[in-house]
Amino acid sequence: MTIQEGLKHVLDTMPSTVKLVAVSKFQPVSAILQAYAAGQRAFGESRPQELAAKAPELPDDIEWHFIGPLQSNKIKMVLPYATLIHSVDTERLLARIDRQAALADKIVDCLIQLHIAMEETKQGFPVQEALEQVPLFRDKYPNVRIRGLMGMASFVDDMEQVRGEFRTLKSAFDKLQPRFPLFDTLSMGMSQDYNIAIEEGATIVRIGSTIFGSR
Ligand SMILES: *Cc1c(COP(=O)(O)O)cnc(C)c1O
Repeated sequence: MTIQEGLKHVLDTMPSTVKLVAVSKFQPVSAILQAYAAGQRAFGESRPQELAAKAPELPDDIEWHFIGPLQSNKIKMVLPYATLIHSVDTERLLARIDRQAALADKIVDCLIQLHIAMEETKQGFPVQEALEQVPLFRDKYPNVRIRGLMGMASFVDDMEQVRGEFRTLKSAFDKLQPRFPLFDTLSMGMSQDYNIAIEEGATIVRIGSTIFGSR
């Protein structure tokens, strides 16, 4: 499959009300330009250096999403480009983003990442902790605007397990939504599980390999 065909396949299998972020990590600028030429505008990157290297070489109307682990000392690399940071996985990181955003005289849209998978290695706030703490972040960090939640399901073949994890995330989303003025984004679903994520209420899916091929 070409990139154009991969993109078309994904778009044909999702409702137009769900937003597609094409995950372009490890892909060269030329591959991103092919997806761009086919009409795709939202792209996701997971490494700050890579985003900062590629974004200036690409058209200005690309909407960049930062989806990977973010160390405090790399926030400055990400802020000039990212329209949404999906991967805020600790309060410490949120506080640092808030501070850098204030220094840059910006308000930064962020998602809080929740840990919903069985694997220990996946990042994120434990669900119960998020339900207690996230409402407090609203007034505490005025230079971030918390727009919703992000999560990654377990990497398993058992799709009922995956569905259950997405339900857990959607349920946390529904509980937190009334506490924020503009809480409208639920980022869940990747190449292997985006159909289920959409059935369970995703508003953004993050898809890499189905579009660009294996990395
Ligand atoms: C790489 C990545 C994706 C895309 O994964 P694919 O399986 O290639 O679709 C989505 N979300 C995050 C956070 C990622 O790091």
